[in-house]
Amino acid sequence: MTATPADLPPQRDPEQPADSCRYWRKKEFVSKAQAYEGARQIRLHVELTGRTYDPLYPYLCPDGDHWHLSHYRQGEATCSHCGETARAWRGGADYWVIGEHSLANGQPCSGEKTQVYDQGSFNANSGSTQ
Ligand SMILES: [Zn+2]
Ligand SMILES: [Zn+2]
Repeated sequence: MTATPADLPPQRDPEQPADSCRYWRKKEFVSKAQAYEGARQIRLHVELTGRTYDPLYPYLCPDGDHWHLSHYRQGEATCSHCGETARAWRGGADYWVIGEHSLANGQPCSGEKTQVYDQGSFNANSGSTQ
């Protein structure tokens, strides 16, 4: 299965309640530990119903102090626009997709969603629930 950008942060959804985050359709977890526990529960459910579990990785929501789960491995990579380390997710076997982040002046960096090839020096969460 190849990764598609379907899980990229969606644009503002007209149905989105005003006080919610952009991932409002996804389940929220108050901590990373709870997100891992949520992923474990999903795994149990998926495997009990005879399907194949696709690993889920917690990530901190950019819109609030809570966590969601993604099928993309989460980590950090160096943004090619500003040179800073930014949150990123694995877009494929050998590259990261840069997440939303800000420049020193507080403006959003235009490096968001750019792809950065893996130099072997990334800092990834293992995503392990073992
Ligand atoms: Zn959220
Ligand atoms: Zn940047």
